[in-house]
Amino acid sequence: MFAADVLNSGMTFHTIIEPFRIHSVEPLRMTTEDQRRAAIRNAGHNLFNLHAEDVLIDLLTDSGTGAMSRDQWAGIQRGDESYAGSPSWFNFLDSVRDLFPFEHVIPTHQGRAAEKILFTAVGGTGKTVPNNTHFDTTRANVEYSGARAVDLVIAEGRDPRADHPFKGNMDLAALEAVLAAAAPGEVPLVMMTITNNSGGGQPVSMENLRATKEICARYGVPLFLDACRFAENAWFIRSREPGYADRDVRDIVREMASLADGMTMSAKKDPLGNIGGWLAMNDDALAAKCRTLLILTEGFPTYGGLAGRDLEALAQGLREATDHDYLRYRIRSTAYLGEALDKAGVPVVLPIGGHAVYLDAKSLLPHIDPLSYPGQALAVALYETGGVRGCEIGSVMFGRQPDGDEKPAAMELVRLAIPRRTYTQSHIDYVIEVCLRVAEGASGLRGLRIVDEPPALRHFTARFEPL
Ligand SMILES: *Cc1c(COP(=O)(O)O)cnc(C)c1O
Repeated sequence: MFAADVLNSGMTFHTIIEPFRIHSVEPLRMTTEDQRRAAIRNAGHNLFNLHAEDVLIDLLTDSGTGAMSRDQWAGIQRGDESYAGSPSWFNFLDSVRDLFPFEHVIPTHQGRAAEKILFTAVGGTGKTVPNNTHFDTTRANVEYSGARAVDLVIAEGRDPRADHPFKGNMDLAALEAVLAAAAPGEVPLVMMTITNNSGGGQPVSMENLRATKEICARYGVPLFLDACRFAENAWFIRSREPGYADRDVRDIVREMASLADGMTMSAKKDPLGNIGGWLAMNDDALAAKCRTLLILTEGFPTYGGLAGRDLEALAQGLREATDHDYLRYRIRSTAYLGEALDKAGVPVVLPIGGHAVYLDAKSLLPHIDPLSYPGQALAVALYETGGVRGCEIGSVMFGRQPDGDEKPAAMELVRLAIPRRTYTQSHIDYVIEVCLRVAEGASGLRGLRIVDEPPALRHFTARFEPL
């Protein structure tokens, strides 16, 4: 309350106060640079292959890595493990529907399970799915079904230096062109990713969402939200979009939901869970098809892929995720990291997104060819130098085409994703120092080549060798 009152009244304290104190601690293990060089060599220069204990500050992802609250842990104890109709399921359902009042809510163990079910039901050869930007697992699930995934983010969203308050927005003219050119039934649905993860954690405005819905309605195509970071997106709308400054975030979320016909969710993001997800929609026939697939692959419709205790933790997490003190701290503390790097001349995607800071490896390492993976080289250097683990989002993640060809990605980024409520400001000050040290030695970094890769989602398991 104290921090909120101070900040709300527009006063002059600049320190970002974490709106919680620490109740249970996890030790971090210190390592030397020599130990880290050996560890990353053994991991085939792929940060996903490291033992997490060899990482000091883990910014690989904000997915499922956040700290749960006292009240979420209490929910874990209350979890009811009845196979069907558990009270924990109804608590979860109420909490989801309070924000996203869709007819049908189908619980899954994480976001990609919801995607797999959805695109098994509506995808297939000859289909096209437009999105502002498909997240990697979304694209993989669309393409695995045989459908084509097209990214239609506005031009500013593809330019790391372009300044725009809603760089995640859909390019409306491009969407209209895709829908106009499509054969009847070719586009089963349009997706909107909020915030736009792969495009830099950038928000989508309510105005753009409304216009997207209007175009979809004209063509009779449903609009689905990939809503993993709905609360952060709503906070950006509240702080940047005219007319929303006095609105409660929960109302903004409900307004976003009212413009959609369904959604997929990874509850490992904004809902503050360590595991979980769901698929929701209004269409009865589609829901029946999806529930059949759910029973085949995940579980009974009142628990899906989750334990009763997980459903309780998520029900409570959803209530905390929309708290204004929390969101103010969340967005400000991410910006704190990004602004410090920007001020020191390290190229980052601007404006700073909600859940992560994206380093622009193409600008920092212009001497490394995109297909020698500048993002991967930068991520490896951050680990070797300071034990900081980030994630390449560039040609390693997106370079391999469905036809087997390799093409450079639009951007070469390294994402430093901030786990929710997990690291303090001094941890982040250390990360800033590590980034600056790596940037100073940038001209000495070399690219890598891939020596082994799987047929899909290669960034998770590929092995590299320094050039
Ligand atoms: C994380 C994420 C997913 C996939 O969710 P998982 O829980 O990791 O399977 C889908 N879309 C977006 C935008 C995401 O951030």
